[in-house]
Amino acid sequence: QSSRLFHPEDTVINLAHTIIGGGHFSLSAGPCSVESAEHVRKMAAVAKAGGATLLRGGAFKPRTSPYSFQGLEEDGLKFLRAAADEQGMDMITEVMDEMHVDMVNEYTDVFQIGARNMQNFSLLKAVGKMRKPVLLKRGMSGTIDDLMNAAEYIAAGGNTQIMLCERGIRTFDNKYTRNTFDVGAVSVLHELTHFPVIVDPSHAMGHTDLVTPMAVAGTAAGADGVVVEIHDDPAHAFSDGAQALKPDQFMEMAKRVQAVEALVAGWRE
Ligand code: PEP
Ligand code: MN
Repeated sequence: QSSRLFHPEDTVINLAHTIIGGGHFSLSAGPCSVESAEHVRKMAAVAKAGGATLLRGGAFKPRTSPYSFQGLEEDGLKFLRAAADEQGMDMITEVMDEMHVDMVNEYTDVFQIGARNMQNFSLLKAVGKMRKPVLLKRGMSGTIDDLMNAAEYIAAGGNTQIMLCERGIRTFDNKYTRNTFDVGAVSVLHELTHFPVIVDPSHAMGHTDLVTPMAVAGTAAGADGVVVEIHDDPAHAFSDGAQALKPDQFMEMAKRVQAVEALVAGWRE
């Protein structure tokens, strides 16, 4: 079901405020973690001002250490929902565990499956039973075929509203970047599958200064969307502060991405 061979037409994801795929490009932004009702409201206003239509934020956080901030859970979902509604945006948030799918479903418009869960097959089956779009992130050591098979797990349950996300793969040079951004995956996935392809330069690069150039590169490669993390006070962010764009940096990134997207749209015709 994921293959272009059997389904030549692009899949288009239609949300209340966002259309992704089949020539429709969209910007998603928000904090790594939902930190408080007030903070996420503020970040939603920034995201919206830069032209984002999808508000991201983690309420369940897959942290490397069990002693790091784990997320506000259901309160976080409520705060993110309220912030998205206030700005007239759609909401995307990560679901980490099969047992939380119903709870997350009560609030979100799009489920995110994180890189660490790309091959959590029971979780993939659980979102495959839902009838809401899923953003499936490529595992840090996942091949393109692994990603395609993971998507197939979701599609096999009857949910074909899938977006694939390149967020960087495990690097041997983590002195300079958190991961290696596989921009080639955008083109390969567009050949192999009809699902929209989103790039996440924040997690791919891990450093604020490197996010904008790779957002531009991913857009130039024909990505159907870009998702980035933003924060007004990165030094005190609950998670991923080192890669967050400050509001003015986000505005500049959005401007550049939109300029490149206008060019790409011309080439598509
Ligand atoms: C995130 O989106 O905050 C996240 C944890 O991403 P990934 O699963 O790609 O590491
Ligand atoms: Mn993050």
